[in-house]
Amino acid sequence: PEVVCLQGVCKSYGVGTPREVEVLHGIDLVLRRGEFCALIGPSGSGKSTMLNLIGLLDRPTAGTLFIEGHDTRRLDDAALTRLRGRSIGFVFQHHHLIGAFTAAENIMMPLLLDRSRPDAAMRRSAERLLDRVGLLPWKDSRVGNLSGGQQQRVAIARALAMSPALVLADEPTGNLDTKSADGVFDLLREMNRESRTTFLIVTHDPRLAQRCDRIVEVVDGRIVADGAVEEFRRIA
Ligand code: ADP
Ligand code: ADP
Repeated sequence: PEVVCLQGVCKSYGVGTPREVEVLHGIDLVLRRGEFCALIGPSGSGKSTMLNLIGLLDRPTAGTLFIEGHDTRRLDDAALTRLRGRSIGFVFQHHHLIGAFTAAENIMMPLLLDRSRPDAAMRRSAERLLDRVGLLPWKDSRVGNLSGGQQQRVAIARALAMSPALVLADEPTGNLDTKSADGVFDLLREMNRESRTTFLIVTHDPRLAQRCDRIVEVVDGRIVADGAVEEFRRIA
């Protein structure tokens, strides 16, 4: 099945109140295994709302959302949480790591919550991930002592800990200087090539969007453009 499939997805906030407002209007979108896709659009256009729906943090008010073939309407909240834990990794602009914990401990967190592996296996798995993101020498450093770029690498390693089918990244380089941003972006790209994980990356940076395989553009809650990067280059 497709990793992500939205059919006529709408989202309203304040349903049943006088302030009810629809911010996504009939979104159709399919993301296939291994796609590396940018999500762009002006502030307030609905990108975060889309990411929250696809990330199973919120539910559509109309339409259908499938994640790895599961019709999410048929799943209760507990089942959604399990599906999210299994299938989706998150990378945020503010990394949401725990500063007082070491890099390895931060990465083991999703594994600890999952409780499917013994301690030694978790530690090995965390070290393998840190090695992949180039941070093995920092495995026992407190995350609070690492640079912004290093912290974001830890966040990427953590997002990949459960070998998810999909990684959702919201402005993953938003806090970084150009050089660190390039490094973090290169790493996302590399992880995508190695693991065939699907990536959906919200970015304001046209330079980074151009380096994705596909760009989806939302304006006022509708997809207004969707295509391979080459087509966007011709328009730009
Ligand atoms: P973007 O991520 O593209 O900046 P958002 O998805 O955050 O856009 O927001 C889309 C629209 O939905 C905006 O008009 C925003 O004000 C509104 N919105 C977002 N979250 C909420 C909420 N929890 N309640 C009411 N309106 C919201
Ligand atoms: P961004 O543009 O970076 O996505 P926003 O400033 O639009 O961030 O939104 C930040 C948070 O505030 C989001 O979690 C969103 O759900 C919430 N939010 C945005 N607009 C509204 C709104 N009009 N009412 C309530 N919550 C909102």
